[in-house]
Amino acid sequence: MEPMFTPALHRQRHQFVIDFVKRKKPKKVLDLGCCECVLLKQLKFHREIELLVGLDIDGVQIKKKMHGLAPISTDYLQPSYDQLRIELYQGSVTEKDARLRGFDLVTSIELIEHLTLADVELFSEVVFGYLTPEAVIVSTPNSDFNPFLPGLVGFRHIDHKFEWTRAEFKSWAMKVCLQYGYEVELTGVGQAPPGQRERVGFCSQIGVFHRLGGKEHYNMFDEDAEDVFPYTLLYSIIYPSLHDNNILRRVLMCEVVYWAEKLKRRWIAEETGERDDTDDLCQAEGEGGECFRASERHVDPEETQTAACGAEMKTLVDQEEEDGELFWRRSKPDSDKWRRRVSVPLAVLWCCCPKVSVLSGSVSNLRLLLMDEPGVKLSQDGSAMLLDHQEQDLDDDDDDDDEEEHRADLEDSPYAQARQCPPSAEPEEDWEADV
Ligand code: SAH
Repeated sequence: MEPMFTPALHRQRHQFVIDFVKRKKPKKVLDLGCCECVLLKQLKFHREIELLVGLDIDGVQIKKKMHGLAPISTDYLQPSYDQLRIELYQGSVTEKDARLRGFDLVTSIELIEHLTLADVELFSEVVFGYLTPEAVIVSTPNSDFNPFLPGLVGFRHIDHKFEWTRAEFKSWAMKVCLQYGYEVELTGVGQAPPGQRERVGFCSQIGVFHRLGGKEHYNMFDEDAEDVFPYTLLYSIIYPSLHDNNILRRVLMCEVVYWAEKLKRRWIAEETGERDDTDDLCQAEGEGGECFRASERHVDPEETQTAACGAEMKTLVDQEEEDGELFWRRSKPDSDKWRRRVSVPLAVLWCCCPKVSVLSGSVSNLRLLLMDEPGVKLSQDGSAMLLDHQEQDLDDDDDDDDEEEHRADLEDSPYAQARQCPPSAEPEEDWEADV
């Protein structure tokens, strides 16, 4: 049978909520009757949301797919400043729970028709009278539309206790507005066939409620309100964010090590007149191992930036050399081989890499942060990072030792920490239909 709606009706209902979120940018969103968390999984990508909560009476449904709400590997590898906490509760919308107060948006998509009419009264009191969110979106079947649903006998779902006509929904919505101080706009999704739209309305009718007086008339701290917590918390996750100091340090360290290494190589290449091997754009191992030489590809802005900074670094380093700064050291006490130690001034690092400057704020902050990092060596006055470099031409027969040392170095480095982040599977998309 041809699908009656394109996109499917359940997707249109969720898209209605997402469009509202895009326009109004609520920070705290609560989805009542969240079921298998399909809507929540879409909302979590709207990072203006800081708190996303789902509630359903059926804990089994919640548990089925709740792990799809967990952060994915990119959330760990490239965290942003956005903050997001997700919580899922088992409980009934007919009961008050103080943890659900103070939300900017509460959604109730195809839920109220699963309640008895007595429970709908309780729902109104809990949602509009106790939770008092700034906005509420309620969707429910429009029974005026039912004659257009092929083969439908009775209600659209076996668990529905009622299905309201447009007049019945309007009457309930107006009563709620008068009683609890809201205004409502009635609309819907799922268009009727042309020529019938005025007469039957939308397949799913939707009320968008706004609290009168907006944020000012918010009675969250109503002295008489009960502080009760009957719901059971089933799931809670905090997304990685750069507001978390440990995460900020980790990301900053990855950037610092990457750029310091890049600058070191650039500087050495300029000193020795050799080609900088890192200028070959070798895609990460496992991505097909494709390599291009610098001359074979377009100019990479990052490379141009490194080149400019490399020149700046050369000037600074030359000055330091004149001042007698340590620049070479023996690689091993019993060896006559020499290991080069390159000094990368923090000021150059800070200027070169926008992410380093944004994350650290200032060169002195950067110095303070690096001083506490066990894997980082700073110069005596703390103005530069010292990086080891083995002279290739002096050391050809010592490759195995080097490799081992290099591997050991990597294990301690922030790179290693990043590599150790467990890759988690992408959340599955759930397209189950629900008319
Ligand atoms: N909102 C979801 C699913 C709607 S189905 C969607 O858009 O796809 C209705 C959901 O409401 C079911 O998951 C059911 O378990 C839940 N429900 C029914 N009575 C409830 C109650 N009293 N409190 C909370 N959830 C309830």
